[in-house]
Amino acid sequence: MMIIMNVEATQEQVNAVVTRIEAHGFKAHLSKGEERTIIGVMGNDPIKTKDQFMFMPGIDRIVPISRPYKLASREFIPQDSNFPVDGVTIGGEEIVIMAGPCAVESRTQLLEVAQAVKEAGAQVLRGGAFKPRSSPYAFQGLGEEGLQILAEAREITGLPVVTEVMAPEQVALVASYADILQIGARNMQNFSLLHAAGESQKPVLLKRGNAASIDELLMAAEYILSHGNRRVILCERGIRSFESYTRNTTDINSIPVLKSLTHLPVILDPSHSTGRWEFVTPIARAGIAAGADGLIVEVHNHPDEALSDGGQSLKPERFAALVKQARAIARDVERR
Ligand code: PEP
Ligand code: MN
Repeated sequence: MMIIMNVEATQEQVNAVVTRIEAHGFKAHLSKGEERTIIGVMGNDPIKTKDQFMFMPGIDRIVPISRPYKLASREFIPQDSNFPVDGVTIGGEEIVIMAGPCAVESRTQLLEVAQAVKEAGAQVLRGGAFKPRSSPYAFQGLGEEGLQILAEAREITGLPVVTEVMAPEQVALVASYADILQIGARNMQNFSLLHAAGESQKPVLLKRGNAASIDELLMAAEYILSHGNRRVILCERGIRSFESYTRNTTDINSIPVLKSLTHLPVILDPSHSTGRWEFVTPIARAGIAAGADGLIVEVHNHPDEALSDGGQSLKPERFAALVKQARAIARDVERR
């Protein structure tokens, strides 16, 4: 439930409500708006205790949150959430483009691609150091060495870095190098990983599982939010369907649906959602037109030699063309 404080409520009154929430064994999540404070009460069926709060001074009204995800819902926070990551605002008027190779393969490869995507207009650098591969025999990533290379690329280009973390015990290590922690599709419901990411101070890019519903994605986000981390970015990356012409099926619907249900920023990964470089740019355009707050795109300087996902990676010049088109569509939908 939500406790909506009066416009004139004092800090002491807010504190008293929080104390009583905690005395009931619930957690209080404060959302300080320009006008008033709203206190989210999280726990098992807090609405049953409504009478215990109703007449406390400073409270305007108490309303239930009908969705199973509470902190992620627009009922709790009606306006779009946005937050800065190293000077880049995610979820604001400006559409944020993250780009880079699927995996960090070598220093030379990453630095070349990083420079190229920066010149093309990307604001965040992507690259996996820990790779969740379907085959145990495929390239698994460079591990910590990959993280070090990413950090060097950030030094040189000034671009903040997003990179995947695959296990709870890796969170501290990855967070010591990355600006944004990526949780991949395969780990969307790894609840101990979501818990650990929720306790981290770094923003989290949460990718939709390839067979996950929108509600399941939002409940996964709720895990991160409920452990104290408010900076979650949702990512549509395609879902499994009967169609096998593309690697996945881009659920373009999920973008406006998610935007209607949650205040969290929503981005699209047209690389994994199509699996083929020829279709990445058209689907990227569709994503922005549908209201996405950003894109995450795989770019490789030599896609033919890539150790993972070469077939869906754009060459730098094609990525530059994508950014140009993205700019035009952003203007059409009154974004930047
Ligand atoms: C990736 O971003 O390289 C990746 C593995 O993505 P996903 O988790 O969406 O498959
Ligand atoms: Mn990939």
